[in-house]
Amino acid sequence: MARNRKPRMSCTEFRELYPVASELNPEKGAIDGPTQDMWFDHLNRCGDCSDWYMGESVKVRGEDPTAHPCVHVAYYGPTHCDEHPNPFDCPDVVVMKFGDEYGLPVRDGGTSYITIENCPWCGKHL
Ligand SMILES: [Zn+2]
Ligand SMILES: [Zn+2]
Ligand SMILES: [Zn+2]
Repeated sequence: MARNRKPRMSCTEFRELYPVASELNPEKGAIDGPTQDMWFDHLNRCGDCSDWYMGESVKVRGEDPTAHPCVHVAYYGPTHCDEHPNPFDCPDVVVMKFGDEYGLPVRDGGTSYITIENCPWCGKHL
């Protein structure tokens, strides 16, 4: 598995720093700027950690990432938002579950959606 550029932070360090580096952390700023930059750099480059991060973020929201076929549809499809009781109004909702299928909401003021059969991020069959 050759890579041109190695992440400068190890996966272990990245995961250890999650509680203080994540945007979800109320104590954000508890680490210094360069470390924060390295952390985001790792998040952008490392597919494994990016998936792991999404799973953790779903858990922080109080949802179960394993209730979905993959972590991406769980992360991009929050099932509740305090600000937007109607998920069609919520910009955080990229994908939604409709019955036993998944779809991309069409934001035309109605409740239509485009059915998707595979995850747009990893291609997994939904
Ligand atoms: Zn990593
Ligand atoms: Zn919202
Ligand atoms: Zn996926």
